[in-house]
Amino acid sequence: MTSEFNAAAFYKHLKEGKKLMGVKCQDCGHLSPEPRPMCPVCHGFNMEWRQFSGRAKLSTFTCISIVSAAMAAKGYGRDNPCCAGIVTLEEGPRISARINGVDGRNPQDIKTGMDVVLDLEDVDEESPSLAFKPA
Ligand SMILES: [Zn+2]
Repeated sequence: MTSEFNAAAFYKHLKEGKKLMGVKCQDCGHLSPEPRPMCPVCHGFNMEWRQFSGRAKLSTFTCISIVSAAMAAKGYGRDNPCCAGIVTLEEGPRISARINGVDGRNPQDIKTGMDVVLDLEDVDEESPSLAFKPA
């Protein structure tokens, strides 16, 4: 496995390893779900990969009816909005992700604070993206 701290490596872990990997700064302990070679807190370069459990709580979300071609191909659009949100991982960091398994036509039924888990069913071959679903 590559030791590059970038989005390509992140998605490779997700797709091939079925793991949600972030980075931890070995100098100050800062934990981030966004892989980058430099710590955003202490600006050190002493980063290491760290696996997240994939369990999280939905912090905020929005339902989108104007979707990309890739999402339209999955059946999303004006009549079936797709949802995207920010989830707070149980380890603490927040990350933006698609929210699967919820009804974008009835956003009042989607509750912030609900438990969600990493959705590995839907790791796209072409354009991988992070998705969570209700636990
Ligand atoms: Zn640091």
